[in-house]
Amino acid sequence: MANVNEQKQSVEFEITEFEAAWENAPILENRSKDEYRLCYICKFSIEKKNFAEISKDEMAWTLDLINAKKPKLVNNNYIAVHKNCISKRFKQDSRRQLKYTWAYKWFYDDEYYNDK
Ligand SMILES: [Zn+2]
Repeated sequence: MANVNEQKQSVEFEITEFEAAWENAPILENRSKDEYRLCYICKFSIEKKNFAEISKDEMAWTLDLINAKKPKLVNNNYIAVHKNCISKRFKQDSRRQLKYTWAYKWFYDDEYYNDK
């Protein structure tokens, strides 16, 4: 379970919680769901190995709460997103938005990334 560190005023999550956050992120139809997911905030892909705990990359991902209004530290409230996108989320409660995002099929845009 997540460990609330009152001294540092931070929450430390366990690896199983990061795994749960990953599983809750929308999948990309043309990519392995173990390697890539969609960031529901910016709609760009997240790469699993680009993890914010070990990477300073601007597209690194971390764990965020789906419903931050009722910040329950439980697996079904975790979501993988780009760390930089957390401040750009639209609402404190993203459950509805996430439901709509899951309802669509998303594809990794090979051409976009190949042009870069
Ligand atoms: Zn993002």
